[in-house]
Amino acid sequence: MAVVYYDKDADLSYLQGVKIAILGYGSQGHAHAQNLRESGLDVVVSDLPGSANWIQAEKDGLEVKTVRDAAAEAGVIMMLLGDSDQPPVFEEEIRPHLTAGKALAVAHGFNILFNQVVPPVDADVFMVAPKSPGHLVRRMYQEGKGVPALIAVHQDHSGQCLQKGLAYAKGLGCTRAGVIATTFQEETETDLFGEQAVLCGGVTALIKASFDTLVEAGYQPEVAYFECLHELKLIVDLIYEGGLEWMRYSVSDVAEYGDLTRGPRIVDEQVRQEMKKILQEVQDGAFAQECITEFRMNRPRFTALRRKEAEHPIEKVGRELRAMMPWLEKKE
Ligand code: NDP
Ligand code: MG
Repeated sequence: MAVVYYDKDADLSYLQGVKIAILGYGSQGHAHAQNLRESGLDVVVSDLPGSANWIQAEKDGLEVKTVRDAAAEAGVIMMLLGDSDQPPVFEEEIRPHLTAGKALAVAHGFNILFNQVVPPVDADVFMVAPKSPGHLVRRMYQEGKGVPALIAVHQDHSGQCLQKGLAYAKGLGCTRAGVIATTFQEETETDLFGEQAVLCGGVTALIKASFDTLVEAGYQPEVAYFECLHELKLIVDLIYEGGLEWMRYSVSDVAEYGDLTRGPRIVDEQVRQEMKKILQEVQDGAFAQECITEFRMNRPRFTALRRKEAEHPIEKVGRELRAMMPWLEKKE
């Protein structure tokens, strides 16, 4: 069973009198900065000078400085830039100020696990990863609640790294909900596998393959779009609220019978074997290496794949149908 920490296990005093730099005032950053401040902690924030988020941070009444200046004066430095922006910013603007006894914090383990950010040995390094987008981290805190989070220690130089991390999680409101102990390796590998096998890769492949099957069989693309993409949200919402059982209880008996008898034929033994291979590539670092190299070479394969995907007929019919849905905000 997982180790779970709650309010009683965390003590804010480990961070009292310590300046906390929140670098990046985006989805996570704006929530971390405001929650920590309202928990009585001392926060300085940063973003790209002159950017909309920099201005927003000032409007929110926070002290805003360059990454360099914020890192220089902070005892805890939380990196909430986008993951691919972190390595160069760390080398140039953070490392010189990550002096002995300070702590570096992250909300995702990729860069540390795959050595894209290598902190000095005399720093503490921890992760507090809320399991929700930033706006919910903020809203739950304001309602006196919190979102669950993961916590992990990569490097404990002070002997108090876990306590500092737990204090940080408490300041965010996460210990109100529960904070699960993990490792950088577990968080990163499961995150990558999840987005590849299910959340992004698996789901989009399933949508396209089912849409193509119907259209090739002569059905109208508009009708195929509704069945294979649009209605997915309804089902995912039910699963999110009450698990597979609640979804199955809510759909018709015919739908449930089709689910139980046909689902295992879609995700068959061959698919499960492929999932194991994909997990292997995550675990042995092959995926991370491929991804890092691709990004360094200015993303040739990535750009080509993006362009090809944008031309899939489901995207065209989708744009036309979504224009008929007045409740949706335009995303194009
Ligand atoms: P966002 O992209 O929302 O925010 C990043 C912010 O950093 C933006 O405001 C960006 O500005 C700014 N920024 C970019 N480059 C620099 C720079 N050189 N100097 C200063 N500021 C800069 O990121 P997220 O909040 O989504 O992600 C932050 C971290 O949190 C990541 O490690 C992510 O994996 C993790 N995480 C994210 C979750 C989520 O739901 N979003 C959930 C849990 C963890 P601009 O927009 O102008 O580029
Ligand atoms: Mg993820």
